[in-house]
Amino acid sequence: MATRWNKNVPRKVNIHVWRLLKDRLPTHFNLWFRGIVNNSLVCPMCFNGIDTITHTMSDCRIAKKVWTSLSKWLDYNLPYQLSGVDLLEHIKTLKAQKKVKDIITTVTYAAWWYIWRYRNEAVFQPTKKRYNVLVDSIIMSSFQWYSSRYKKGHIRWDDWLKSPCLFA
Ligand SMILES: [Zn+2]
Repeated sequence: MATRWNKNVPRKVNIHVWRLLKDRLPTHFNLWFRGIVNNSLVCPMCFNGIDTITHTMSDCRIAKKVWTSLSKWLDYNLPYQLSGVDLLEHIKTLKAQKKVKDIITTVTYAAWWYIWRYRNEAVFQPTKKRYNVLVDSIIMSSFQWYSSRYKKGHIRWDDWLKSPCLFA
């Protein structure tokens, strides 16, 4: 697989995405598959599906809500039903400016990062579910990551908040 290193996001996020694309994140299903004892395979976010990477990142109602909000904000329908590899490939081949594609990719990386964090919170701190801040965290961190690393352009926070692709 070609490298998916995204220079607009922190190293830890790149490593996370690399593991996600290789299906090496420790979902309940992957732990069970590797023979590590586990009580339940049920998704800790919705309790209505198996905790696989496909479920967590695409099929779970929490993930769907996040992608739907992000699609509205970006004014671009993220095809989140695709596998991670195909989703990145899809963005890469969009007929749009490189800047726009970079932004959509960075937001996608942020979504994968924060959905996974949210899922982990649901496992380890079940009482502390903070859905309200999930989408906000993605919007805010993707701005911080993108604007601090992207040297050629400057985008203001309030423009980012309105519609990052429009002001790119
Ligand atoms: Zn779920």
